[in-house]
Amino acid sequence: LRARLIKTEKLSIVSELAASVAHEVRNPLTVVRGFIQLIGMDRKNDDPKNSEYITLVLSELDRAQEIITDYLNLAKQQYFEKNELCLSDLLEEVIKIMTSYANFKNVHFKNNIAPGLYVSGDASRLKQVFLNLLKNAVEAVSETDGEVKITAYASHEFTRIKIKDNGVGMTAEQLARIGEPYFTLKERGTGLGLTVTFSIVEQHGGTLRYQSQPGTGTSATVSLPSISKNLSAGAE
Ligand code: ADP
Ligand code: MG
Repeated sequence: LRARLIKTEKLSIVSELAASVAHEVRNPLTVVRGFIQLIGMDRKNDDPKNSEYITLVLSELDRAQEIITDYLNLAKQQYFEKNELCLSDLLEEVIKIMTSYANFKNVHFKNNIAPGLYVSGDASRLKQVFLNLLKNAVEAVSETDGEVKITAYASHEFTRIKIKDNGVGMTAEQLARIGEPYFTLKERGTGLGLTVTFSIVEQHGGTLRYQSQPGTGTSATVSLPSISKNLSAGAE
């Protein structure tokens, strides 16, 4: 426990520091991105080589932006609101945001979200949870038959949200390590997404459980305490 505490403390110092750097770096990056885009739109630069380079620069800038976002999210955790919110609407919103990313990767979303599910929590933090989970699911599946199923329903005193993919899956060893800061199997991952995700879910008095089989797929289940309002919504 002590080792874990020291680790958590270290992480919070590192993340505070990283976040302030990340915050400062974000603005110049946005400016650079804007100018590169302008150069790309200029008809005088019609050399196909240039447009290839510009595409590369833009995608690397977006990548830098993603890393920054992961680090900023890691540090943002102490600011936490508690409001009654409609989880069904929140999920629909997150799915809408992720759909363009999924289409780009040719992944099919299948949604089954009960209407009128309510929980108490921080809307922007909870959005982060489902963005991270959906992003991992989309990244795990193949571009030919990738499918991600999102189910949400109330079950007794919990509201459960299950995100199931038919992607690469994980071995028991890999499963045991997810959520550990900087643990990633991706060439270009930060390994911070699930660290943040687990911590937000725990702050909401909930749990995040994984089931996974290499080559078959993964399912991630978030359970959040229901508030009395939705005890009958989509009950199983
Ligand atoms: P990142 O996505 O930056 O690698 P995460 O913390 O989001 O960091 O995930 C950590 C690791 O857990 C990933 O690199 C991946 O190996 C594994 N993982 C997470 N979700 C899934 C999933 N749905 N299917 C397979 N592996 C997963
Ligand atoms: Mg991730």
